[in-house]
Amino acid sequence: MTELIQVKNPATGEVIQEVKIDTEKEIYEALKRGNNYFQEWRNVNAYERSRLLKSWSQKIHDNKEKIAEVMTLESGKPLQESLGEVNYATSYIDWYAEEAKRLYGRTIPAASETKRIIVSKQPVGLVAAITPWNFPAAMMTRKAAPALAAGCTFIVKPAEETPLTTMKLVELAHEIGIPENAVQVINGRGSEVGPLFTESDFVRKITFTGSTPVGKSLIKNSADTVKHVSMELGGHAPLIVAEDAEIDVAVDQTIASKFRNAGQTCICANRVIVHDSITEEFVGKLTEKINKLKVGNGLKKDTQVGPVINEKGYDKIVSQINDAIDQGAEVLCGNRYDADKEQGYFFVHPTVLQHVDLDMKIMHEETFGPVIPITLFHDIDQAIEIANNTPFGLAAYFFTDNYKIGTYLHDHLDFGVIGWNDGAPSAAQAPFGGMKESGLGREGGVEGIEPYLETKYLSVGGL
Ligand code: NAP
Repeated sequence: MTELIQVKNPATGEVIQEVKIDTEKEIYEALKRGNNYFQEWRNVNAYERSRLLKSWSQKIHDNKEKIAEVMTLESGKPLQESLGEVNYATSYIDWYAEEAKRLYGRTIPAASETKRIIVSKQPVGLVAAITPWNFPAAMMTRKAAPALAAGCTFIVKPAEETPLTTMKLVELAHEIGIPENAVQVINGRGSEVGPLFTESDFVRKITFTGSTPVGKSLIKNSADTVKHVSMELGGHAPLIVAEDAEIDVAVDQTIASKFRNAGQTCICANRVIVHDSITEEFVGKLTEKINKLKVGNGLKKDTQVGPVINEKGYDKIVSQINDAIDQGAEVLCGNRYDADKEQGYFFVHPTVLQHVDLDMKIMHEETFGPVIPITLFHDIDQAIEIANNTPFGLAAYFFTDNYKIGTYLHDHLDFGVIGWNDGAPSAAQAPFGGMKESGLGREGGVEGIEPYLETKYLSVGGL
């Protein structure tokens, strides 16, 4: 019997489309085709792979309004953000279309006149990707583009909530001539597809963006076949506002970082740590601006904060807010909801909590919602200790115009991505990824193609 995923609009709870779940046999066949085709795709010359990637990017641009609308319908994010994500997604394709031409090897002086030492790069093979719902386009392209550029074939399983954007991107890739077996999409439940990917001998690499517990299970399950793994996992970003910070900049960048995608991004500022001498001014200006944010259906032009993705996400946010309030946190704004469990829509109004302490759930569990907990510090080492005190190490932010404090913070914060007076640090040309339990490997920049390559060393003797 055909099983279907119901893709719902998180702003209304309505079913937008039903998508067929691929059977185990269909997934096996797709992996087999991807593996077989690898031998052909790796031999397509780098300039042709580059040309195909560029025309894929162009095709996505040509269809960006349509793609953005689909993304808003299935993920809930405001239309402007969806358009921004389409641009962000293509920036990875554009970057790796160029990197395809720069897969350099090297020669190394040998310790003998009769030898040559030559190092070259080759693609790892078929890559299987699993992506989350919060960035259905960009999380896919920042894996697919370097994989295809390196000469790997690629198969992706998108999140059940947001398969439509990914399916559209793959359809456009085929339309411009990227072969169907070079890039494929399959649909299914993560818990069922995961083992099919990790146990398959056809797959040489697993690349995953999603939660830390699922990432850990994929790493474990990849061990038996010794697959390459890249993991972009959860975060719990601290944002430190130092005594000398330009308050208006810090306020605007905190809002930009926190409320994008209704606070459902892995690098959202989750713990705001403010110097005690400036709290009043910072908090006053912050709450004044936050109170003006428009919450609503992402398709409406003036919406700035959309719904949260589903009931599970909503329940977690509400429980974190209630736990903080029960333990003495003060609500400065928000803590208002517009949700209907029957209909299936969940809006959380931007919330700011003060007098938060480190025992509260919100300070150590990843928060995926529009909530800012504020805690205070007096000396900078105290701020660093609070910031580093979780198992996560994805993104951190700090605001200061004092270069000594800035460089000290940079040196002591254990995070893979750091924004200094910058709440939006992601860029295709920069390596993105986490330390500690936030991940393994980097995506973006020159670092982002390396995980799709093997290094091969040739020693020529008897010369
Ligand atoms: P999730 O539950 O881990 O789901 C992400 C993907 O994994 C979905 O495609 C899901 O499929 C699949 N999945 C679920 N269980 C699986 C299993 N047992 N084996 C294999 N795949 C499985 O994460 P989420 O809560 O939806 O997404 C948000 C998380 O992603 C957050 O923790 C966030 O920080 C992280 N994230 C990290 C980055 C980064 O770059 N570091 C970027 C964005 C998001 P189904 O939809 O079928 O369940």
